[in-house]
Amino acid sequence: MKNEILDLTKKLISIESVGSNEKKLQEIINAVKKELNGFTIEEFSSNKKPSILVYSGKSRPKKFKVILNGHLDVVAGNAKQFIPFEKDGKLYGRGAIDMKGGAAVEIVLFKKLSRLLPYPIGLQLVTDEEIGGYNGTQHQIKQGVRADFVIAAEPTDYGINNKAKGIIWVNVKATGVAAHGAYQWRGESAILKMKKALDMIEKKYPVLTKEQWRTSINIAKIETSNVTFNKVPDNCEMKLDVRFIPEDWNSIKKTLSKMFPSMELEYQSFEPPQLTDENNEYVKLLKQSVKVITHSPPKIISKHGGSDIRHYNGIHVNGVTCGPVGEGLHGDCEWVLIKSLDTYYKILELFFTKLKTK
Ligand SMILES: [Zn+2]
Repeated sequence: MKNEILDLTKKLISIESVGSNEKKLQEIINAVKKELNGFTIEEFSSNKKPSILVYSGKSRPKKFKVILNGHLDVVAGNAKQFIPFEKDGKLYGRGAIDMKGGAAVEIVLFKKLSRLLPYPIGLQLVTDEEIGGYNGTQHQIKQGVRADFVIAAEPTDYGINNKAKGIIWVNVKATGVAAHGAYQWRGESAILKMKKALDMIEKKYPVLTKEQWRTSINIAKIETSNVTFNKVPDNCEMKLDVRFIPEDWNSIKKTLSKMFPSMELEYQSFEPPQLTDENNEYVKLLKQSVKVITHSPPKIISKHGGSDIRHYNGIHVNGVTCGPVGEGLHGDCEWVLIKSLDTYYKILELFFTKLKTK
């Protein structure tokens, strides 16, 4: 088992499946299709991003019990990183931990287990997670792919990541009254109006100076169309990057409207946060499985940035990320601990076997 996973991880690393390289994305999908020969493979494509959904039955169930989700795309790396090598029990290479190692475990486990389980499981492999997952995971969801629970094998050192912040990008527009700069009383400065809004942001959402689990607002840009000295500006606009915790999910838009009562709010994007209850029965079972295999309870992790799981949470399907041990994701020295691939396999195997008896 160990060698099968290791060999497959190496094979996947050696394909330069950087998000922008359409040819390589298709090549890696073709490679995993070969691995999964004999199973039903549904192929999807959206904006030239291929993805597949694999299962053992003839037709797709209305709802899988569990979907194993993995992304095969990687961020760019130097040429050497696409030649995997082993050193001191670690496998080095681009995507080793994020997340070709985890994906290889999912593939090998799916091959071995899916036909033996008394419930349907799906294997979802996509190629655009690093750039948002809209044309992979979200595209498949739009095509009706559903599950009770989803596990993505992102790097967590066997921890369970059940929360991540959501993202709002919004333009806030203040309007004033233009006047000659020497006759201020005839106008109303939009910049000064904006200053009040800035003070309010600083008070309500002070800048994070260390890692903290709370909503934050980054003021990304402030501008006015005014270009002369002698004019009271009648417009001012700022761009806000709001990172909100799931606990603020229902209230955040209202809070923003209240903070800027006389201004126009133009929402550019709204990314739901990730949230799955720690006491969800699947999460509990996964926790138990990690504890039995690794002899210590997993950390429950809140993350500042989301994964493809957020697309499921967005339609109220529960899911978490949980994966093997490694470091250096997106860096020059990415590695996965080889024996953690085997351990991760055993965790998932126990999870699925126990799920059977319920
Ligand atoms: Zn990843």
